[in-house]
Amino acid sequence: MKVRTRIAPSPTGDPHVGTAYIALFNLCFARQHGGKFILRIEDTDQVRSTRESEDMILEALRWTGLEWDEGPDVGGPHGPYRQSERSELYKEHAQILLDKGHAFRCFCTQERLDTLRKEQMAAKTDVGYDGHCMGLSQEEIQEKLDAGVSHVVRMKVPREGVCVVNDMLRDPIEIAWSQVDMQVLLKSDGLPTYHLANVVDDHFMEISHVMRGEEWINSAPKHLLLYKYFGWEAPTLCHMPLLRNPDKSKLSKRKNPTSILFYERMGYLPEALVNYLGMMGWSMPDEREKFSLAEMIEHFDITRMSLGGPVFDIEKLGWLNGKYIREEMDTDGLVKALQKWAFNEDYLKSILPLIQRRLTKMSDFGPLVMPFFSGLMSLTPEDFAAVKRMEAEATKQALQFGLWRLEALRTWDEEHISEELRTLSGQLDLKLRDFLQPFFIAIGGSLVGTPLFQTMEVLGPDLSRARLRDAVKVLGGYGNKKLKKLQKEYDRLATKPAAQPTTQG
Ligand code: GLU
Repeated sequence: MKVRTRIAPSPTGDPHVGTAYIALFNLCFARQHGGKFILRIEDTDQVRSTRESEDMILEALRWTGLEWDEGPDVGGPHGPYRQSERSELYKEHAQILLDKGHAFRCFCTQERLDTLRKEQMAAKTDVGYDGHCMGLSQEEIQEKLDAGVSHVVRMKVPREGVCVVNDMLRDPIEIAWSQVDMQVLLKSDGLPTYHLANVVDDHFMEISHVMRGEEWINSAPKHLLLYKYFGWEAPTLCHMPLLRNPDKSKLSKRKNPTSILFYERMGYLPEALVNYLGMMGWSMPDEREKFSLAEMIEHFDITRMSLGGPVFDIEKLGWLNGKYIREEMDTDGLVKALQKWAFNEDYLKSILPLIQRRLTKMSDFGPLVMPFFSGLMSLTPEDFAAVKRMEAEATKQALQFGLWRLEALRTWDEEHISEELRTLSGQLDLKLRDFLQPFFIAIGGSLVGTPLFQTMEVLGPDLSRARLRDAVKVLGGYGNKKLKKLQKEYDRLATKPAAQPTTQG
């Protein structure tokens, strides 16, 4: 059997370290068996998917040095590798299931589905579709189709018995069919859901092993059933443990930076990051902690994977990265790495316009550009005492609200950052100048730094957001309860029209 593995990211946000982690294990497994590793973009969610996110994911994965053999950018014999370019294939396959009687058209309104859900929850029975439209006659269906009633296609799922999911890392998992929803396969706009597209693509891309995050275990019965309905052989499944924060919760950006681009921006080395990801739940037979990708491939054995949630600990990554800097680089190597990282013409040219008028001599350069060559700003609560007309609590809240606004911002430039923060200050009824003070400190370490919006543009979204998150933490952070309350307040605010701010930022 030809081993073919794949990574299938959805381009709906920042490139996540979890994606690189799953990619690494898929790559190692494929290489170890002389197979191929494929990258497929799962952009069936038209509302949340963006081309910018796709570009970032490809760029970030390329930076890690994990190379794929087939993908939207490199082509290959099983393309296209972007699901939005394969819609016809999914429609055809939904039709095949309809023709074989394995799927049905469902005309239920959202209202009916909501009521059903509420009733099921109240009665404490299994929540899921009740099969209402399965009973429609051919004539009834045709009538609705002729009248243009909006509908979806759902898969039929037995109500009795159990599905046994075999997994490379686990004993067989039994899931009762009654727990499995009659999944929508084709949405009312004719586009597929993840489940249909994923199965169809894995089949036609001849994927032999599906190695993905364990959050997909509950989807496995649906997928296995679809393979059966189509009469296809299912790939071997392997669900990988999810990366965790040090407190064992699922890795989240609030507790740990999750964007690969953050690690690049901070000046971690891709070799060290990949090495560190290789230590997540896996170890070398001789337990050594520092190893290259080639060494990992050479000694790879998926059964050495342990299922206890691997903790992504940025301190430990820092330790390993330091080892690479000390042990793998001579002075020339370090010069090259620094040049690549930030001491290059492009980066300097983006900074100089922000400081040139403040230079009276070249030696003023160092202190002025410090924030552009730093990671987090080592702030203390006292640094925020410089903020006038805002108490510490209000300062923290302003930063948190600003962070949320900027986390949602997709076009990261001066103009858009400025617009978001201006609108927010207006919604908070604060003078822009007052409102921005905490941001100056969080981003540049002082009130007299370089112009805020331009500085944030140059620093980029990952580092800017990380500094804001860090500032909130320095000011005491928020517990879950308080954060939820704040989120509500923030959501209310978002619907409020902004009062026109008057002061320039
Ligand atoms: N698009 C899915 C994701 O973003 C892929 C899951 C899978 O590998 O099947 O995680």
